[in-house]
Amino acid sequence: MHVPRQCRGQAATFDFDNSYARELQGLYVDWQPAEVPQPALKFLNRPLATELGLSADDLAAPGGVAVLAGNRVPTGASPLAQAYAGHQFGGFSPRLGDGRALLLGEVVDRHGQRRDIAFKGSGRTPFSRGGDGKATLGPVLREVLMGEAMHALGIPTTRALAAVSTGEQVFRETPLPGAVLTRVAASHLRVGTFQYFAARQDLDRLQRLTDYAIARHDPALATHERPALALLGAVCERQARLIAQWMSVGFIHGVMNTDNMTISGETIDYGPCAFLEAYDPATVFSSIDRDGRYAYGRQPGIAQWNLARLAEALLPLIDADAERAATLAFDVLKGFGDRYTLHDLALWRAKLGLVGEQQGDAVLRDDWLALLQRGQVDFTLGCRSLVDAAQGRAEAFESLTQAVHAEAAAWLQRWHTRRNQGAGEEGVLLAMRRASPAYIPRNHLVEAALQAAVHDSDLGPFEQLLTVLRNPFDARPEHKEYAQPALPEQTRVYQTFCGT
Ligand code: AMP
Ligand code: MG
Repeated sequence: MHVPRQCRGQAATFDFDNSYARELQGLYVDWQPAEVPQPALKFLNRPLATELGLSADDLAAPGGVAVLAGNRVPTGASPLAQAYAGHQFGGFSPRLGDGRALLLGEVVDRHGQRRDIAFKGSGRTPFSRGGDGKATLGPVLREVLMGEAMHALGIPTTRALAAVSTGEQVFRETPLPGAVLTRVAASHLRVGTFQYFAARQDLDRLQRLTDYAIARHDPALATHERPALALLGAVCERQARLIAQWMSVGFIHGVMNTDNMTISGETIDYGPCAFLEAYDPATVFSSIDRDGRYAYGRQPGIAQWNLARLAEALLPLIDADAERAATLAFDVLKGFGDRYTLHDLALWRAKLGLVGEQQGDAVLRDDWLALLQRGQVDFTLGCRSLVDAAQGRAEAFESLTQAVHAEAAAWLQRWHTRRNQGAGEEGVLLAMRRASPAYIPRNHLVEAALQAAVHDSDLGPFEQLLTVLRNPFDARPEHKEYAQPALPEQTRVYQTFCGT
């Protein structure tokens, strides 16, 4: 039995209410974070702390940093490692689970939302297999940047509350500084959590998990005729919206395994993710994604594939008659395409400043993307140039699409014609700006910030980049270089690596 290291004296106070630990016994293992030698706070998310009803000052004090490093378990926490399975690159792994993560507990935030507070990199657990249970500073800070960028873009995401370096060396290809990330999520329920119990034909636990998920994320569905089917529909809807949002800003998750897909509809597990530069749906940055399974353009299809795995897991709860269950689930899954198209077109109408809905809108969008691809135009700058073009300033548009200028001029004409049937008023322009950010976490800037943080112990570039990313929609002259793409030779060789 583990004796919890409860904290005494001055330390951060959490008002924990741990429903997962309380209601889902048998779906996790009680576990304690590893102690680390020399915790140092590298990042604290003050606005998020406030939202969670926590004192940022207490968290930044030595007692708080000890908590964020896993050296002190705060009063009321019930740390546990969750069991889950997952399809990784299409192959089923029946037992993954929190191999280097722990759910510390849950708090109800200022908006009444229940939020998980979890560690990543807090040491080995019974699910670690061959791994060391650790995380390193570079990827931990990368997760901070990506999550905060996505949040500022208005895209549902888990967020980092804190990042602490541990004073420990962690061995990857070379020794690297160890770190612990504190992650906040609407929950850590994944498609893979359902797969774990379905694969074991453990219907009792599968049912309890489903009831729990519904109570937590879709309480209105509890009285539905078939709650498990209704839950599937709700997850399809959230994921359709999420993936459409990813696509609209050029986000590539990079490792859309079913264990990395949430029931809540939040983006989770920022490993080898990156943003598109020149528009090409085949873009892959992840070093391990050799077949391009998780390429930018494949993400909607992969999401539906993952949801089919969720449907399979839920089948025994949908109907006792397997055939009937399959028919019902299939109908819901088929709806994913329509749901996705709806969100996708709505986002693109905003990006293109199109008022109302017209037949040709999807084609106009497709032709725009084809133009970007043929001209190898930076996706973010290209979309952003339309905000100026909508106000009669086409210089940026023209210079970006120079390589395909005849085609671009013809498209611009069609676009103006369509838009004139709407208007160029302030509200539309504002919506365009909000749908097409000026600043995304550009790969070369992220790498430079992490390089400085890890190799020169200089957090300056990381903090500056974070500041820019937290306000992505308003272009500011002093931040011009943050809007610029990498040089083509940098982009061509850019690779991301798994593992926070
Ligand atoms: P991820 O790539 O972070 O989604 O992780 C996939 C699975 O591998 C999860 O079960 C993780 O807990 C596990 N895992 C990844 N890295 C490590 C590590 N260093 N030590 C132990 N388990 C790990
Ligand atoms: Mg994962």
